[in-house]
Amino acid sequence: MSSRAVKDIRAREKATAIEIRVIKKWISTSKVPGIKKNELCYQFVGDGIEATADGDKIEYFDKIIRLQSCYRVTGYVCTKPRDYMATINHPASLIIGKKAKFVPIESADIPNVYFGFVSYEVLRGRIKVNKLLTDFIGRVDRNYLQPTSKISAVRKVVLRDERLNKVEITLWPSMLHLIGDHVGSGNIVAITATQVSNYYGSIQLEATYLTTVAINPEMPQTIEYTKRLRDLPPIDPNDEDDPIITVRELTIPDIAGKKHSTRFRCDAWIEKFDLNRGWFYVHCSTCDKTVYPEEDGSLMFVCKDDEDITPKFLYSVNAIITDGTTPTEVTFFDEGMTALLKTSCEDLILKHGYADPKSLPQQISDVIGIRKIMYVSVRRGHLVVTNVTDLAETCDAQESSVGTLASAMPPTTPDPKVNINKRSHTDSPDVGPATKALQVG
Ligand SMILES: [Zn+2]
Repeated sequence: MSSRAVKDIRAREKATAIEIRVIKKWISTSKVPGIKKNELCYQFVGDGIEATADGDKIEYFDKIIRLQSCYRVTGYVCTKPRDYMATINHPASLIIGKKAKFVPIESADIPNVYFGFVSYEVLRGRIKVNKLLTDFIGRVDRNYLQPTSKISAVRKVVLRDERLNKVEITLWPSMLHLIGDHVGSGNIVAITATQVSNYYGSIQLEATYLTTVAINPEMPQTIEYTKRLRDLPPIDPNDEDDPIITVRELTIPDIAGKKHSTRFRCDAWIEKFDLNRGWFYVHCSTCDKTVYPEEDGSLMFVCKDDEDITPKFLYSVNAIITDGTTPTEVTFFDEGMTALLKTSCEDLILKHGYADPKSLPQQISDVIGIRKIMYVSVRRGHLVVTNVTDLAETCDAQESSVGTLASAMPPTTPDPKVNINKRSHTDSPDVGPATKALQVG
């Protein structure tokens, strides 16, 4: 039995039989001015086309159309593609109503997933144009969580395409699970239905509620891409591309836009901690809200809503860092502080007994004045230290870049802390309100 190739369908043409598999189903709310209209949407593959039905016909169509099943379809109407967040780039789409006929067929050759990968050049043209959602495939350079607040983070996955162009995926908190922590550099990620935006000069793919992700996909539609991406030159672990800048540069308005990066490294030290908001917080493992200390012979933490909770202890502390340029306030959330101290917040509190958020543990005050490589994320003027390494670990890489700074640096004496504390208190009397709360040593 002959059938029309899905890719050849055009708006207004008379329906002829097509053979398709139903890949996705969702409700889209399109807002024509003044009217809110719910549409029941489907992705069909042969080669990929969208179909829509009235939003209130979902029960009717659920009886006729099953996801991942194949059908010979007639009686549809060919129209223009949807003009808002379409998932497939096709010059037509189908409208299905009561006269559409879906006859189940066996067809092993119709794929069970749809990808419409686009090139880097096409991505540029789609920035901020929401007509079409975008599918992309690339090789992972980096996968990390970028804190947005104490308990919330977005996932960033930096991809390279076949010509090593850099594209960054952003997964908002509700979508972090789409790409797990285990997806490290060298893996291939195929992502669908993203919105393209410009993020401080680099291309960003934001996941939507329709986004799906395939890791190292080996399907017929992806195998060639995967092979070419695997054949790219290996990722050079020394090619750490977070630029090294001074602490003063961190404070330049729109530094991220100017440098096309939101992550930087600074060769710097902590001048002091600001304990106005404490150095840790404890939240409830059940509801994520703050919990409260309760003493009943021993120290406990209780939630106002939940019984029998496991408290989660997380660092969150503001600090002034400097490299001899401009002392600047940054925030250390849990990952930054854990990397700095090499001790978990829970251990400091439970094993070492530091339970007062306004009183600085010895282990923390000991790091004041010690030069480190600090990885700083910049977000709308807010600076978050996400990782800390010792100077020696990155010494070769940063030596040349910070050469001009050398005179501003404290000497790397065995205990530079003493000098620096002295200097910071006399030279910078007005850095912040933290001085009183500060306990040094
Ligand atoms: Zn709770």
